[in-house]
Amino acid sequence: MTPTAVAETRTQSENLDQLAAVAVHVGLGLKSGQELVMTASTDAMPLARRITEHAYRAGASLVTTLYADDASALLRYRFAPDASFDHAAGWLYDGMAAAFKSGAARLAIAGADPTLLSNEDPDKVGRANRAVSKAYRPALELITRHEINWTIVSSATPAWATAMFPNYAPDVALAKLWEAIFATTRVNRVDPVSAWKTHDAELHKRAAFLNEKRYSALRYRGPGTDFRLGLADDHEWLGGGTTAGNGVYCIPNMPTEEVFSMPHKDRADGTITATKPLSHQGTMIEGIQVRFQHGRIVDARATRGQEVLQKLIDTDEGARHLGEVALVPHSSPIAQSGLVFLNTLFDENAASHIALGQSYSSCVRNGDKLSPEELAARGANSSLIHVDWMIGSGQLDIDGVTASGTAEPLMRQGEWA
Ligand code: ZN
Ligand code: ZN
Repeated sequence: MTPTAVAETRTQSENLDQLAAVAVHVGLGLKSGQELVMTASTDAMPLARRITEHAYRAGASLVTTLYADDASALLRYRFAPDASFDHAAGWLYDGMAAAFKSGAARLAIAGADPTLLSNEDPDKVGRANRAVSKAYRPALELITRHEINWTIVSSATPAWATAMFPNYAPDVALAKLWEAIFATTRVNRVDPVSAWKTHDAELHKRAAFLNEKRYSALRYRGPGTDFRLGLADDHEWLGGGTTAGNGVYCIPNMPTEEVFSMPHKDRADGTITATKPLSHQGTMIEGIQVRFQHGRIVDARATRGQEVLQKLIDTDEGARHLGEVALVPHSSPIAQSGLVFLNTLFDENAASHIALGQSYSSCVRNGDKLSPEELAARGANSSLIHVDWMIGSGQLDIDGVTASGTAEPLMRQGEWA
């Protein structure tokens, strides 16, 4: 049996422990003596506790977990005064930034109810999101600049499971979601750590190939999509793990199937249609179609959640421009599961995608050492938001366009050509 084969006999509890171990040792690469700041929903407590145990056994000096509670979040929309929605716990985010600066690692457990805020006033939802984005910015910058080791893993939660599997009894839905998480994060393999090492090496190989090609643009063609995307000057393709500024090797997303880079913020033209619904901060946006001109969204439509989409791109000027381009083959385990997770961490790794808003400075050569002005000169985008949306499918063709203007087939029908 190879280390990457599926371990058939492991119980759910054993798989949960494997997930926690992989999160701490492979995702975070937590160092002995390092502090850990974790965020989780109260529904994710069993996983948070396993992670806490593995972190202390790896030598963590202190694990601090900030729990959020969905029911309490809804009470705010019911009873808080209107001014509440322009307010965020700035002191908390300042504290997180201070912890990161003093050497703490960051782990987020995702697993939110994708429809939690669907029935709330979109204006209040938009204002509250904006207030948090603003307050969180200094901490987020340390993460997007990869100054610290960080990762995101997911816990199945009852509300998420029910949203994904509405035709099953709640306990069956929850078990099905756990099974899907273990499969797509390679935690169900005989040796999850070595399965991750193999996968990580493949992603690095793919990124190296694209870096050698140095395409100046990508050309997309598919149903509802006819789009040309210029890449940033000195762009770098990344994939899999990375060595953070603090010297720790980490794999920031689990699962991760993408190789990604930086588009030039002023070089996107044409029409692009989303291939999956986007769950954004508790609301669903479906049937997204946008038109770009010189990198800027000039027309945005959605068949559902149009108002939220409009608010999102009105966040600031950078929210109308692109900050990430990512390629994912249609044969990724997540795409092959055939499931829509209603969760960006999974769905973005099921399909090629682009992101509105903030770009990652690590996606240009020596980007982490460049000033904001130097980054902008190479085409980097700046925004309070970074929102991925899925444009890949088994019907998408992508060409790489060389500096001399020749187009080469890069992906055909969703697969590497
Ligand atoms: Zn991405
Ligand atoms: Zn992204």
